[in-house]
Amino acid sequence: MTRQHSPAGQLDRRQLLKLGAGLGAASFFSAANLQAKTIATRARIVILGGGAGGMAMANRLSQRLDGASITIVEPRERHHYQPGWTLVASGVWNPERTVRANTDFLPRRVDWTRTPAVGIDAEQHRVTLADASTLDYDILIVATGLQLNYHLIDGMSPELVGDHGIGSVYASLEAATRTRDAIDAWIAGGGGQGLFTTPPTAIKCAGAPIKMAFTTLSRIKAVERRDAFAMDYFTPSDGMFSQPWISDFLKQRFDREGITRHHGQHLSAIDPGARQAEFTLRDGSTEVRDFDFIHVVPPMSAPDFVKASDLIAKQGPFAGEWLDVDIHTLQHNRYPEVFGIGDVIGAPINKTGASVKAQAPVVEANLVAHLQDQPPSARHDGYTSCPLITDIGKAMLVEFGYDNDLAFLPSFSFIDPKEESWAAWVLKDYLLQPAYYAMLEGRI
Ligand SMILES: Cc1cc2nc3c(=O)[nH]c(=O)nc-3n(C[C@H](O)[C@H](O)[C@H](O)COP(=O)(O)OP(=O)(O)OC[C@H]3O[C@@H](n4cnc5c(N)ncnc54)[C@H](O)[C@@H]3O)c2cc1C
Repeated sequence: MTRQHSPAGQLDRRQLLKLGAGLGAASFFSAANLQAKTIATRARIVILGGGAGGMAMANRLSQRLDGASITIVEPRERHHYQPGWTLVASGVWNPERTVRANTDFLPRRVDWTRTPAVGIDAEQHRVTLADASTLDYDILIVATGLQLNYHLIDGMSPELVGDHGIGSVYASLEAATRTRDAIDAWIAGGGGQGLFTTPPTAIKCAGAPIKMAFTTLSRIKAVERRDAFAMDYFTPSDGMFSQPWISDFLKQRFDREGITRHHGQHLSAIDPGARQAEFTLRDGSTEVRDFDFIHVVPPMSAPDFVKASDLIAKQGPFAGEWLDVDIHTLQHNRYPEVFGIGDVIGAPINKTGASVKAQAPVVEANLVAHLQDQPPSARHDGYTSCPLITDIGKAMLVEFGYDNDLAFLPSFSFIDPKEESWAAWVLKDYLLQPAYYAMLEGRI
């Protein structure tokens, strides 16, 4: 059975062509840096992780470097289009739409090791794999993504998702699907209390917890029993989002929709059987709340084996938690033969596929410069974007970078980044996935 009921399904061919023509000129799809000269090298390059960042780098480097030995370490057979998971959990997409085989993307000249990495010896330039074998490198790219630390919420584990009214879009595709079912069950129950949480750490796609609240609200309104459902949103910070104008917009929208905001609180424990959640406040006190449905977003960090290595940040805001790279050049701050891309890096914003798209050409250029004994000259400006779903059928294409939120010209002239629009929804529902796959293939 197909569950798709997207309003974008009403798009006629003429409208899609018009939108596509606009997109052709947009920077999001631009094919920057692809004319660059091929470099002859015998360097041994190891890429840890074959997700968005690792796969994009494997393709870019296999096109750019002639004679290099490139090994990618990726335990999964299948590539997951994670930005589609919010649409799966909202009942808009079929789960299968988010999965492809890694072999669809992996370049022929790259060796693929399926045994996961368990250690990095940065002094010896050596990676250890789970079967105790080792890989020596001249250049290392850390693209492992991040680790979901459900265990830091007492009583919580990803296996609980789908039972006891617990949802969590982040855990996996299966969990996103079970989250959809848990929301279905809550709505079918006719009413009750829903809790939506965010953790006290950086997270990937900071908009996803908000999207889950808005799409659930949409579905509740669709059954015309809004008054029977209470919705509460919990965030450890004073704002709702890193960018002040988005934060203000969201506060107003939540208040208007009757979603109660709780600031300075995070989920610290859960009792699934009793359907109770404990929240810790800034002063260390706790409050226990009943729920019929809860959307759990776990604390996140670099994977444990990266944390245990010398590559982890030793001081500053990312100490002990995230990879220590220069946020502009993406080169390691202490080991110049190491580069980072994607969710694993310590950066103030930036854990999105859109950031990976902006980072990949920078890593490529600075890695090539390093091979040629040149200083890194390419700079990442922190570009990130989030198609912030505000309703099923409506979104805002929010774009910003390290310096401020409006330093960028919007990628799409016909989408006002401060307005909700159907066009931004169409972008999310139809057009970003092909762009993402083109990024994996190193084509944009
Ligand atoms: C629910 C959700 C919604 C999102 N929505 C959006 C969105 O709308 N827009 C957007 O731009 N981004 C979105 N994102 C974020 C986006 O998916 C990530 O930012 C992006 O995938 C990061 O790429 P990455 O390569 O760093 O990590 P990943 O793509 O997660 O890849 C990491 C890879 O490393 C591998 N790995 C892990 N440990 C090891 C190990 N020990 N050894 C070897 N390999 C290992 C993993 O198997 C994985 O394949 C969303 C994410 C989620 C979860």
